[in-house]
Amino acid sequence: MRLIFLGPPGAGEGTQAARIVQKHGIPQLSTGDMLRAAVASGTPIGIKAKAVMDAGQLVSDEIVIGIVADRIEEPDAKKGFILDGFPRTLAQAEALDRMLDSKGVKLDAVLELRVDQSKLVDRIVKRAEEAKAAGQPVRKDDDPEVFKTRLEAYN
Ligand code: ADP
Repeated sequence: MRLIFLGPPGAGEGTQAARIVQKHGIPQLSTGDMLRAAVASGTPIGIKAKAVMDAGQLVSDEIVIGIVADRIEEPDAKKGFILDGFPRTLAQAEALDRMLDSKGVKLDAVLELRVDQSKLVDRIVKRAEEAKAAGQPVRKDDDPEVFKTRLEAYN
């Protein structure tokens, strides 16, 4: 099964996708997670992406398309996958079409999570507070001002 999960930041795609992962045994491919992992391990991609991500803006299509193209070739993605946070631009959507065409496969569904946007800032503030209280790292872009930029980028 090949799915795309769409939703504004804070809508909870990650949480919902985790349930589908459990039920269907397909991986969740989150470009945000992959980029954060690249930043954390200081790879050339991570070094390029860090400032853009901290500002809540979109990382270049070239970088993001490259990481997705590599990731869907991994053995665990053969049976299917849930794309979370990708595609985010027309160029990314077109690149995805080409990737799927070249493999001779199709998407099964696109799921869009809709949330009242005035509620999203509260959720993000809460997520940052909870992470802090649990002694976990707080995402730099989970800041109300940066969050507005992320929401505008999504819209
Ligand atoms: P959210 O959806 O909550 O904004 P993500 O974890 O999906 O968070 O993404 C975090 C950041 O990673 C984005 O603000 C952006 O800088 C970068 N990013 C993730 N996916 C993409 C993408 N498909 N295209 C460009 N940038 C991306």
